[in-house]
Amino acid sequence: MNKIIIIGAGITGLTSAYFLKKPYKVLERNSYAGGLCSSYCKDGFIFDCSGHFIHIKDEKVKNFINKISDGLFEIKRNAYIYINEIFMPYPFQANLSYLPEKMKQECLDGIIKRKNVDIHQNMSFLDWSKSMFGDGITKYFMKPYNEKLWSYSLSKLNAAWVGQFVPKPDTKSIIKSAYDKNKKEYGYNSVFYYPKKNGCGALIDGLLKKVKVNFNSNTTRIDIKNKIIYCQNGKHYKYDKIISTQPILELLKQINNVPTNVKKASERLLFSGVRCINIGIKSNRGIPKILKNKHWVYFPENRFSFFRVGIYSNVNPDNVPKNCYSFYVEYSSFNGKKYKNTENIIEYLRKIKFIRNDDKVVAFNVIDMPYAYVIFDKNLEKSLKEINDFLGKNNIFSIGRYGSWEYSFIEKNIADAKNLVEKLNCL
Ligand SMILES: Cc1cc2nc3c(=O)[nH]c(=O)nc-3n(C[C@H](O)[C@H](O)[C@H](O)COP(=O)(O)OP(=O)(O)OC[C@H]3O[C@@H](n4cnc5c(N)ncnc54)[C@H](O)[C@@H]3O)c2cc1C
Repeated sequence: MNKIIIIGAGITGLTSAYFLKKPYKVLERNSYAGGLCSSYCKDGFIFDCSGHFIHIKDEKVKNFINKISDGLFEIKRNAYIYINEIFMPYPFQANLSYLPEKMKQECLDGIIKRKNVDIHQNMSFLDWSKSMFGDGITKYFMKPYNEKLWSYSLSKLNAAWVGQFVPKPDTKSIIKSAYDKNKKEYGYNSVFYYPKKNGCGALIDGLLKKVKVNFNSNTTRIDIKNKIIYCQNGKHYKYDKIISTQPILELLKQINNVPTNVKKASERLLFSGVRCINIGIKSNRGIPKILKNKHWVYFPENRFSFFRVGIYSNVNPDNVPKNCYSFYVEYSSFNGKKYKNTENIIEYLRKIKFIRNDDKVVAFNVIDMPYAYVIFDKNLEKSLKEINDFLGKNNIFSIGRYGSWEYSFIEKNIADAKNLVEKLNCL
C-alpha cells in the first residue's frame, strides 16, 4: 500500500505521524529530530533553539504535551524591556510609569493626539501602531523593536500578525499606567509552560518513543505525476499523499512542473531569519542580581544589534550545571542576508552587566534559523491561496509554521497536525 510521506520530523511532522492510523514514512534531512523544537546538551548546559516556551489555551493540547514531555512547570512570565539603562516590565504600553518624565509625556501626548481612523489588519504595522498607541509609544518601543525583530520596513509589513502577539490595553489603562504601577497581566504568554527535564526537546523525545523516523533523508524532488518522492541519499518512495512541514517555498522548488502563477506566488513570499547565540556562564556568585528571576528582556534601542536576550537558567535551573547560568541572544536578518554585529556579544553583555567581568564563559554556540518569521505583506494572502490550491489538487498538505507559512507556535502546530490527520484517517 502506498504510504503517506511526512517531510520533516519537527513538532508538526512528528505529531502528524503520532496520530496517523495509516502507513507512513517520516523523512527528516537531519540526523536528529525536532527542528526548531530541538534541544541539545553542550558542556553540561541544555540549550534550546532560542527561547521555546509553551503557551497553551487548549486543555486537550496541554494534556497531550504533559503526557509526551513527562511533565511541565507552569511559570508566571517575568519579561522586561531594557531602555535608557533601566528595566521596565513588559509590555511597554502598560508600564509607562517606569519611563523618564520626558519620554512618558511624549507617550501620553501621543495617545491623546491619536487620529480617529479605522484600524484594520491590512494597514501597515507602522500606521497600525500609531493609530493604536500613538506616536510616542511607537517611537520608543513599537517601531525600533519591531524594525529589529522583522528586519523589514514597518511601512510595508502589515498588521495581520498582531492578533494575540501585541497586547492592547485600553486607552484608560495605558494612561493610568503612567501614574500607577500596572498590576494586570497582558499577553498570550503571561503564564507559560516548560518541560521539567531536557528542555523543549522533551516533547520531541516523547514523540520519538512512538514514531519512527528516517533520518538523513533530505527530499530533493517530487514527481507529482507518478507520485514519487526522491531523497538526496539516493532513495525514493511512492506515495499516496504528502504532509510537508518544510518551508512551503522550499517544497515548491522540489516539485516538477509547477505552474508559472504558483512559482511567481512563491517568489513573493518573504521571511526573516534569526541567529541565536547560546551562552553558558560559570560563577560562584550565581547570576547577577539585576537578572534574578527575569525570563527574557527586549532590547528596542538601536545601539544593541540584538533584539532579545533570554535567561534559560531562570526558566529551569536544571538546564545548567552547578554555579552556572545561561542565555540566548537573538538577532534577525531579512531573506537570508548577513547578520550584523554579532561578534562582540560577550563584550556587550559585560558592558550592561548581564555578565560580571570575572564570570567565565564556558559554553558558546551559534544557531542560525534561516526561516524564523514569515513576513506579512499585501501579497501574502493571495500568494498562499494560489499555492495551496495547486498543492491541494496534488494531494500535498503543507502544514506547520513554515509549511503553512504563518506566525504560529507549538500549540497551534500540534492542533493543526492532529486536525489534518484526523481527516486523512477517515479517507
Ligand atoms: C526564534 C523563534 C522563537 C520561537 N519561540 C517559540 C516559543 O517560545 N513557543 C512556541 O510555541 N513556539 C515558538 N517558536 C515557533 C516554533 O519554533 C515553531 O512553531 C515550531 O517549531 C514549528 O515546528 P514545525 O515542525 O512546523 O517546523 P520545523 O521545526 O521547522 O520542522 C521542520 C522539519 O523539517 C525538516 N526538513 C526541512 N526540509 C526538509 C527536507 N527537504 N527533507 C526532509 N526534512 C526536511 C527540518 O530539518 C525540520 O526538522 C519560535 C520560533 C522561532 C523562530
